[in-house]
Amino acid sequence: MSIFIYNSLTRKKEIFQPLNPSQVTMYVCGPTVYDQPHIGHARSAYIFDVARRYLAYRGYQVKFVRNVTDVDDKIIDKAKAEFPGEDLIGAVKKVSEKYLASYHEALQELGITNAGISEPKASEYIPKMVKFIGLLIEKGMAYQSGGDVYFDITKAKEYGKLSNQSLEKMESGTRVLAQENKKNPLDFALWKSAKENEPSWVSPWGKGRPGWHIECSVMSSDILGDKFDIHGGGIDLIFPHHENEIAQSEGAGKEFACYWMHHGLLTINGQKMAKSLGNFVTIKDFLAKYPADVLKLFFLQTHYSQPVDFTWEVMEEKRSALERITIFLGMVKKREEGSESFTKTNLKKAVSAVELEDLIKDYREDFLKAMDDDFNTPNAVAVLYEIVNICNKVLYDSSFNKAHLPVLKYALETIKEYAGILGISFEEKPLLISEEQIKESISMREDFKKQKLYAQADKIRKELEEKGIILEDSKDGKTTWRKRI
Ligand SMILES: [Zn+2]
Repeated sequence: MSIFIYNSLTRKKEIFQPLNPSQVTMYVCGPTVYDQPHIGHARSAYIFDVARRYLAYRGYQVKFVRNVTDVDDKIIDKAKAEFPGEDLIGAVKKVSEKYLASYHEALQELGITNAGISEPKASEYIPKMVKFIGLLIEKGMAYQSGGDVYFDITKAKEYGKLSNQSLEKMESGTRVLAQENKKNPLDFALWKSAKENEPSWVSPWGKGRPGWHIECSVMSSDILGDKFDIHGGGIDLIFPHHENEIAQSEGAGKEFACYWMHHGLLTINGQKMAKSLGNFVTIKDFLAKYPADVLKLFFLQTHYSQPVDFTWEVMEEKRSALERITIFLGMVKKREEGSESFTKTNLKKAVSAVELEDLIKDYREDFLKAMDDDFNTPNAVAVLYEIVNICNKVLYDSSFNKAHLPVLKYALETIKEYAGILGISFEEKPLLISEEQIKESISMREDFKKQKLYAQADKIRKELEEKGIILEDSKDGKTTWRKRI
């Protein structure tokens, strides 16, 4: 079975053939560290983590690089705002270190550990960037203008091939700053001369700092080689960032990335996320309300290439959807323990253990087929729900017998294994209340109900719900409880 990946460069779904048959080299544009990480960052990190996990599951050794931009105007602005009057160079360092730590902490809490990945920082690669820029000048691909160095896009014959745009169209969307002395409006800065008090480094063109695009060309080739397998990022990076990365790397005589993967962007209630709109949702904000698995399920149920719209209402739906799986997992355990309170349905056609096992085997293949098809996680997750659906039918049916049990366990293990590839852990939070207290509350509620004091009974139910305990009343009047995700 082959894996197919939609390649933004060729605009086609292609069979994935890594340069080295046992290894995948992958570079993803990472965060600019100047603010608290938000759920848009979470989506980007998670999408590529899922791809990395799946490729590893399929037997590849994955070499994964995600850069950290810690030299940038936004960081300098933040440093001025957060540490007014302080030495700017020190303040810039403090800001980037602080927000990189927040980023790491947030990903850790989301369970996106990216164990073993490389995380090069732009600030640590300046001499290599200077060397690379020197090479571009030497090859006639770049020119010095005052203390700045620009890439000459007229020398890049295929400029626009990734974003699939004509020069005219690209030019119309480009803003030229007054202080820039470029030959062509689309020429972009490789090196910018130093501004007073700002962090700067020495170079043959005077003190200054690199433009943003050059870091990715330099760090990817330094760690992964001049030609590597997958380059990823958000769709908003295609132009100009990735277009410029290609121009730089190819301009320096390197072959660069073979497959370009771009993910769609995240909106909040249909709007772009922005602090000025007051709709900024940090990863911390999210995790204060829901577990990470809920956000992951939300992301998985849309293909990575598509936009997603976040609303809190949808999160509530995703939590319930996730609980359908955890309830199933719990019920299999109850069956194992020999609980007898199950028989509820009478299927028209009972499913035998042998039939069920065949179905699970088919579903296992369907899951892999979905993932092979450009990491089609919505279809892969749908397969997990089909397993839950068919197994629930068996679990609650009068035809259930002991022969079903090992097959149900097989289904349970399949769900755990495949959810694990997707980074879903079904991690349970500890109870905020003792089991005795829950039982006491339930019996109090029953007393209220007997006395027809329904408002009080309901109050108890709600109080428990706030503590993450859901009560379920069966038809025969019995109340059971379960933990909310
Ligand atoms: Zn980049």
